[in-house]
Amino acid sequence: ELYNKVLELRGNIRVFCRCRPLNAEELTTGAAMAIDFESAKDGELTIMSNGTPRKTFKFDAVFNPQAEQADIFEDTAPFATSVLDGYNVCIFAYGQTGTGKTFTMEGTEVARGVNFRTLEKMFDIIKERESVYRYDVCVSVLEVYNEQLRDLLVPGNQPGMAARRLEIRQDGEGMHHVPGLVEAHVNNMTEVWEVLQTGSNARAVSSTNANEHSSRSHCIHCVMVKGENLLNGECTRSKLWLVDLAGSERVAKTEVQGDRLKETQNINRSLSALGDVISALATRSPHIPFSPNENDLSETICSLNFASRVR
Ligand code: ADP
Ligand code: MG
Repeated sequence: ELYNKVLELRGNIRVFCRCRPLNAEELTTGAAMAIDFESAKDGELTIMSNGTPRKTFKFDAVFNPQAEQADIFEDTAPFATSVLDGYNVCIFAYGQTGTGKTFTMEGTEVARGVNFRTLEKMFDIIKERESVYRYDVCVSVLEVYNEQLRDLLVPGNQPGMAARRLEIRQDGEGMHHVPGLVEAHVNNMTEVWEVLQTGSNARAVSSTNANEHSSRSHCIHCVMVKGENLLNGECTRSKLWLVDLAGSERVAKTEVQGDRLKETQNINRSLSALGDVISALATRSPHIPFSPNENDLSETICSLNFASRVR
């Protein structure tokens, strides 16, 4: 029932496809673009090989390699309003390592990404609404690596340093949260930028090969919003999830062993669970296969408790 209500409200899934430009190395080796952008209109994109069209895909929008961060944001900007209106929103970047997920979500200081821009838009709207609404905004930054959670806002929290084990829980209203995770209050964009930088730096210092590590972990920003209508006292609570997923490349299991194999299996499993959930949502399947996703740990434990009791 709740699920149908969500679909009725704003249940749409929108998919945008962004293609990065060929990089310097690809250009020197004379690599050809696999996508025909001439014909990419109305969200249609055709994959080419040797000058022959291979397959055509349809998206809500396609961004060509010349698209700038601001162009991408134009399509995500309305979600800032949705979150402040009390809806939950999740924006995530999916793709192989090196395709521009982090560039799109996080961006750089001179080419800021979706994360910063969405929050900036939110603070603009908060200012516009200030005579009627009061908002309270917190941000948490979480990394999921090898099924382990790491709080990126805790200084010196290195991977594998399981000082305090973090777990995902679901509350009575179906909201997910991680007890103990730092939730940084942000009052303005200066504070937002500081929090985003802290998270980004913590992710980078995590290993001897930062790039490698970040391509094999999911990075999840959660923006928690509490709103209060000053005229009628009505309150809203909503969350905006901004997710930079691990690289979607399927490393052949025969290629890797030991820790690397476990890591690969964890990534493959989490991305395939995500795929199952999304296709169930997209086809409005009555059953959403959230389990055995770690997100549903408490439900899974409930089921197992139940089952083991009746044995
Ligand atoms: P991913 O996070 O998917 O592994 P990155 O975001 O790190 O990929 O992008 C790989 C490289 O390509 C980076 O050096 C990034 O700056 C560059 N890049 C990605 N997308 C673009 C783009 N649209 N325009 C210019 N450079 C880009
Ligand atoms: Mg990345």
